[in-house]
Amino acid sequence: MSARAGLPVVAIVGRPNVGKSALFNRLIGRRVAIVEDVPGVTRDRLYAETAWRGRRFVLVDTGGLISDATEGLAARIRAQATRAAAEADVVLLVVDAHDGLVPEDHAVAEVVRRAGAPVLVVANKVDGPARDPAVGEFFALGFGDPLPVSALHGRGVGDLLDAVVALLPPAPAEAPAAAAPPAVAIVGRPNVGKSSLVNAILGEERVVVDAAPGTTRDAVDTVLARDGQRLVLIDTAGLRRPSRVHEAVEAYGVARTRRAIARAQVAVLVLDAAEPVADQDQHIARQIAEAGRGLVIALNKWDLVAATPRRDPQRERAVRHALRFVPYAPLVVTSAVRGWGIGTLLTTVEQVAAAYRARIPTGVLNRIVGEAVRRMQPPADAAGRRLRIYYATQPESAPPRIVLFVNEPQRMSEAYLRYLERAIRQAYPLPGVPLHFVLRRRGEAP
Ligand code: GDP
Repeated sequence: MSARAGLPVVAIVGRPNVGKSALFNRLIGRRVAIVEDVPGVTRDRLYAETAWRGRRFVLVDTGGLISDATEGLAARIRAQATRAAAEADVVLLVVDAHDGLVPEDHAVAEVVRRAGAPVLVVANKVDGPARDPAVGEFFALGFGDPLPVSALHGRGVGDLLDAVVALLPPAPAEAPAAAAPPAVAIVGRPNVGKSSLVNAILGEERVVVDAAPGTTRDAVDTVLARDGQRLVLIDTAGLRRPSRVHEAVEAYGVARTRRAIARAQVAVLVLDAAEPVADQDQHIARQIAEAGRGLVIALNKWDLVAATPRRDPQRERAVRHALRFVPYAPLVVTSAVRGWGIGTLLTTVEQVAAAYRARIPTGVLNRIVGEAVRRMQPPADAAGRRLRIYYATQPESAPPRIVLFVNEPQRMSEAYLRYLERAIRQAYPLPGVPLHFVLRRRGEAP
């Protein structure tokens, strides 16, 4: 499904013969190519990338029914709509204005409601003003006023696309450099083994190395290729050489650390396993978290505390406690001199980089938040007025930002936000990635 990577998804659902396919073709117009035709018993789903007013999105047509003769019609409609709505950012629930509201429409509406994404009811077959059937009855589906369109003649389609685009999560501020490999900063206080670790990484058998100029004059980045995955190690100028203790102290100072973190998507915080976590370690960890970067903790010099690369829960607990404000960060034990944990470190960095760029589909996010709210009521203010969460979306990845549309932002508590964060992470693991929440009163643009 690479065609869908990163783009919001708009799903067309509805009972048979309401004109879903006609609407799909009308909406994609001549601007697109069909990118995928998933073979089913009958045609199952079609994906097409399209754009309106500069916003790109992927349209999914659930088209023909999943052909399973043993199930009833309603069950098949439900199955089809469930699959489509589950991954959608916006759902178009298509109904037939000539037939009026029928029980199957309610069945589809029920499924779509549970998926959690915003829904537009599209009353199709409104072919001309003279034959304008009453579409008001579709209001009863509970998704607001229906939008009258004629898929056949194109009537109302511009207004529909405007409404769709208004509901899409906002585009990322800067176009994501999708092809650019993730940038990784190796940071830590002097003498923890940053240089040694970088050299151990570069010496790893499966790593192919290439130097690339960094953004500042004295910075040199190193491009790694490993199992077809690429990573950029940021500013290896001060690190990539045989380490000498005295130089190392000078080579990677505070300003350099700050610059490297700013340019990175993922930071590896190197700690000395033989020493307790220092203030400076905590300070750098905080800096990484506040910059919104992905974080991996490398507990280096493990050979000084253990005879094998095996992990030690007790030692880890102490580190975790000292760095308890970044509980989401994976921890890897390494020894630069023995070559322990280098492969694991790189694999972990790749996983964090992937999570950093991930976008939780709106439907999935709303299901998670909805379930969390059902399990535990949101907080109320002194007068007993409760917070209501209407809708959640993740408009941005890299770093991820989650927007919650609520009735009264000030009723949110820190504890409840942490509860929601835990629920999201449990359902949708985002290793190493800080989650940032934004609260908006409903009605404000995200
Ligand atoms: P940096 O300042 O963080 O870049 O640290 P260096 O890479 O220069 O390492 C500082 C000292 O720690 C050097 O003497 C290294 O040989 C030593 N060192 C680095 N990593 C390890 C390790 O995994 N195990 C042991 N025993 N020594 C290490």
